[in-house]
Amino acid sequence: MYRIGLTGGIGSGKSTVSSYLKEMGYNVVDADQVAREVLDIYPEILGFIRRRFGQEYFDEKGILNRRKLGDFLFRNRERLAEYESVILPLIKKEIFRRMEELENSGASICFLDAPTLIEAGMHKLMDKNILVWVDRETQIERVAKRDSMDHGQVLGRISSQLDIDKKKEMVDFVVDNSAGVEETKREVREILAKLGIFKGAI
Ligand code: ATP
Repeated sequence: MYRIGLTGGIGSGKSTVSSYLKEMGYNVVDADQVAREVLDIYPEILGFIRRRFGQEYFDEKGILNRRKLGDFLFRNRERLAEYESVILPLIKKEIFRRMEELENSGASICFLDAPTLIEAGMHKLMDKNILVWVDRETQIERVAKRDSMDHGQVLGRISSQLDIDKKKEMVDFVVDNSAGVEETKREVREILAKLGIFKGAI
């Protein structure tokens, strides 16, 4: 199976591109979805959060408040690193289990949409990698609007990731998502054609 990594910065447009890929019928493993689901697959993670960070990140029904935990972790780098040392190996394990499942079911192409594809070293396990890029100002503006955050909160999240311009040097293709979505889709089709896996008309 041909494996293609899809990454970018926070709010650079990965979901927009991966939705388009799914719409066209490609298989996409979504690392963010896996990151949410591992909490159900491995309940010990919730136990770890409760013990290490406190009960205040859970509501009265015992449901994790991901937003509150995220705000806390992105302001406390050491705690974030500690949390990631527990959760990342489990996310990776589940991602590769799902890819293997796709391969065993006869899939010939699979995309992995992962915000921290490069930080986690998973890009090295892909055949090709695509970065969805936007300029910093557009990125801050879009995330602030989408997530109703102020610029400080957005910057905290952006600076927890490797600089998007550094990521440019580590991938095979860059999609510039600074303009409209139609232009982005056209760029995606062009890349698929270059890879020899686009079957429609450009
Ligand atoms: P995250 O990693 O934070 O989940 P993402 O990389 O998946 O983000 P998206 O959610 O696809 O990014 O896009 C971020 C926001 O910008 C969304 O509100 C989306 O609707 C908007 N957006 C994406 N692409 C464009 C575009 N080309 N023009 C205008 N708005 C866009």
